[in-house]
Amino acid sequence: MLAEPRIPFNRSSIEGKELEYIAQTVAHGQIAGNQGYSLRCQQLLKSTLGVAEALATTSCTHALEMAALLIGIKPGDEVIIPTFTFVSTANAFALRGAQPVFCDIRPDTLNMDEEAVSALITDRTKAIVPVHYAGVGCEMDSILETANRRGIAIVEDNAHGLFGKYKGKWLGTFGGLATQSFHETKNITCGEGGALLINDQAYVERAEVLREKGTNRSRFFRGQVDKYTWVDLGSSYVMSDVLAAFLFGQLEVWEEVQEKRRRIWHRYAQGLTDWSHAQGVRLPHVPEHCDQAYHMFYLLLPDGSSRDRFIAFLKQRGIYSVFHYIPLHSSPMGSQLGVAPLGCPVATDISERLVRLPFYNQLTQEDQDFVIEKVQCFQTRC
Ligand SMILES: *Cc1c(COP(=O)(O)O)cnc(C)c1O
Repeated sequence: MLAEPRIPFNRSSIEGKELEYIAQTVAHGQIAGNQGYSLRCQQLLKSTLGVAEALATTSCTHALEMAALLIGIKPGDEVIIPTFTFVSTANAFALRGAQPVFCDIRPDTLNMDEEAVSALITDRTKAIVPVHYAGVGCEMDSILETANRRGIAIVEDNAHGLFGKYKGKWLGTFGGLATQSFHETKNITCGEGGALLINDQAYVERAEVLREKGTNRSRFFRGQVDKYTWVDLGSSYVMSDVLAAFLFGQLEVWEEVQEKRRRIWHRYAQGLTDWSHAQGVRLPHVPEHCDQAYHMFYLLLPDGSSRDRFIAFLKQRGIYSVFHYIPLHSSPMGSQLGVAPLGCPVATDISERLVRLPFYNQLTQEDQDFVIEKVQCFQTRC
């Protein structure tokens, strides 16, 4: 056994002036949130994406919790969520008493199946939560049409999709609300962090209140009220300016980060095409009308046993690959709180066969070639 993995699955990195900016905010003597670098991060997201407002938060999970509060989720409501996603997508709504209605995924993009979405709508459906898996856009034309016809809210969980586009429009700008993650496993990071993107102006004022423990503190600091007080529900969802300083150092070079990831993604795709054809392995599918965000590179092995052998094979060679997600409808909490009226056979199958290769901004060509070379030695049939 090797003591250290030669190539980890993920590794965070310095992309620009993160440390300089942290030193500046600390020297300035004010490190709480909603000032300085936090405002600069928000402004950058707002002007780049063209959203009505962007609020930096402690995590994507918390931004999702804010979204559930903002759209007034209450016990008995139903929320349509892909089963193939991270737990936070469902938890945020379940915390408010909603029943997750789990939707299967498309076998090509692994995004929520838009036809299943329309079949799962009931009179109690309050929201649809598309997750742009791997940063490839869901079929938003169809999902928007379904939602708009019934007056149902859309909250995009865009944790994977920052700076990706669907039919030329930024991911995160389709729903009334969208959420971003800056967790260390995401393209752009500050360790732990997130953002709530607001496309519908009507949510802005209340979102500021929810984020500030249910107080009108933001209005107070803008001089719009002469004292601040408790006016609504809320929690502590503001990102510290120390983290925002780190985040701004990455966000201001987002195009360079995305270019690095674009190269890594295509190098994998080119290096593994022949091997994948010979071995019955499927590479990621990106439709023509989607500009992906280059969040991950996954492989679909022919079956669960070859996938498990693959992970062990790479690990023996010092390369860490991982799988995800246990479909939420089959998890202990998801099966207790949620329902999957149409079943989710595609997600169940994909979940057993998917593996993600090492993918991080500073993955060197040399290391990536080593990964590709070892993958090419793997035989799916033993
Ligand atoms: C990472 C992730 C989250 C949670 O992000 P945090 O910032 O860690 O709360 C939510 N949804 C999806 C799809 C994710 O990948």
